[in-house]
Amino acid sequence: MYRLAEVSANIIDQCVAQGVPFARDYGGLLDNRSFGGVLVSRTFYAKGQTGQQLLLGAYSAMNRQIARGKIEMFNRHEMLDVVVVDGKARGIIARNLITGEIERHSAHAVVVGSGGYGNVYFLSTNAMGSNATAAWKIHKKGAYFANPCYTQIHPTCIPRSGDYQSKLTLMSESLRNDGRIWVPKNMDDVLAIREGSKKPTDLSEDERDYYLERRYPAFGNLVPRDVASRAAKERCDAGFGVNQTGEAVYLDFASAINRYGKEQAKIHNIENASEAKIYELGQAIVEAKYGNLFQMYEKIVDQNPYKTPMMIYPAVHYTMGGVWVDYNLMTTIPGCYCIGEANFSDHGANRLGASALMQGLADGYFVLPYTIEIFCLVIFVQEKFQRKLKNLMKQKKK
Ligand SMILES: Cc1cc2nc3c(=O)[nH]c(=O)nc-3n(C[C@H](O)[C@H](O)[C@H](O)COP(=O)(O)OP(=O)(O)OC[C@H]3O[C@@H](n4cnc5c(N)ncnc54)[C@H](O)[C@@H]3O)c2cc1C
Repeated sequence: MYRLAEVSANIIDQCVAQGVPFARDYGGLLDNRSFGGVLVSRTFYAKGQTGQQLLLGAYSAMNRQIARGKIEMFNRHEMLDVVVVDGKARGIIARNLITGEIERHSAHAVVVGSGGYGNVYFLSTNAMGSNATAAWKIHKKGAYFANPCYTQIHPTCIPRSGDYQSKLTLMSESLRNDGRIWVPKNMDDVLAIREGSKKPTDLSEDERDYYLERRYPAFGNLVPRDVASRAAKERCDAGFGVNQTGEAVYLDFASAINRYGKEQAKIHNIENASEAKIYELGQAIVEAKYGNLFQMYEKIVDQNPYKTPMMIYPAVHYTMGGVWVDYNLMTTIPGCYCIGEANFSDHGANRLGASALMQGLADGYFVLPYTIEIFCLVIFVQEKFQRKLKNLMKQKKK
């Protein structure tokens, strides 16, 4: 953690240099926002798409190196096994997913960066290709695993539409800055909403249970992810889920739209603004902050989240446990390294928003290049020495 904190400022500089548009305040300094699990604004961000922007930055930097011939890509290949020679990882066996051909690739060291194992659970936000096979294979070859029970469940996913869907779309956690989470107080209202005879907007404030604000008044809707997820599951298990599957709670922006609308009316000196005007002004602010996410939600659910509350449900999102690594990110197989979400380092039993990519980028840009270099250097020296020794012995025999 100490090292991660130390290099975190470098990560921002690195990403900005790669073109990631981190938000700035009026004076040009990096801006902060609040996030789940914290009571202060401490998270650097790029609108509601920080993760995506960081990935685009890293991808474009990598593509530049590919274009320069420094990196050779093997797209659509699946690692099947790690090759261990004299106790050290010296390559991998992979399957070409286009031709089905089995290939071998030799190397001085192997780095596994195959992501987390969230897909072993039914509902997950992970891509379906991230299936934990690589981590499992190196585990079978002797790499230890640590804290497999440390799994993070994200509270703001779009609920599944039926039994054949297990991959859920994640709505950014930033939505909990302004959205209020609730379910109806009365079971009659839940049933009426499910059968379509009532709409959520028909319910008065008194008929709604803002259960996070009720239970955790200090944090309100910004409780840590595990607390928000557990509370949603508890309400749904008690029968208060608001959609057909019974697995959904509301994330409502009406209060935020109203609050922002009133602020804007004051700023623009609009006296006695009508409700419609306040709504229009407030919607513009919410749209500027989360417009991309609202559009995505509407495309998937076919409901307008400016007019009716969003529905959300928790799903497995990140695995803090993973392949055990030492301080140099090496597994218990010498020469086999593990980085990013696939390893168990840094997060402990919980993980705060935004720190996953921070760890992945720290591992890849600021830790591994130095530690793997030392390992390779030792290998080179050892092999050179062994070759020289062999030659000497040969000459002696002659
Ligand atoms: C929807 C979503 C949103 C997120 N948003 C944020 C955010 O805003 N901020 C943040 O900090 N974190 C976020 N996270 C978490 C973060 O994105 C991940 O922790 C991070 O991408 C992990 O990076 P990685 O390189 O370790 O693994 P991954 O990005 O999972 O990449 C692993 C790659 O390895 C491949 N692979 C797996 N097995 C094999 C195999 N056997 N052979 C070959 N290839 C294999 C996979 O196909 C994949 O391409 C988000 C995660 C998700 C799912």
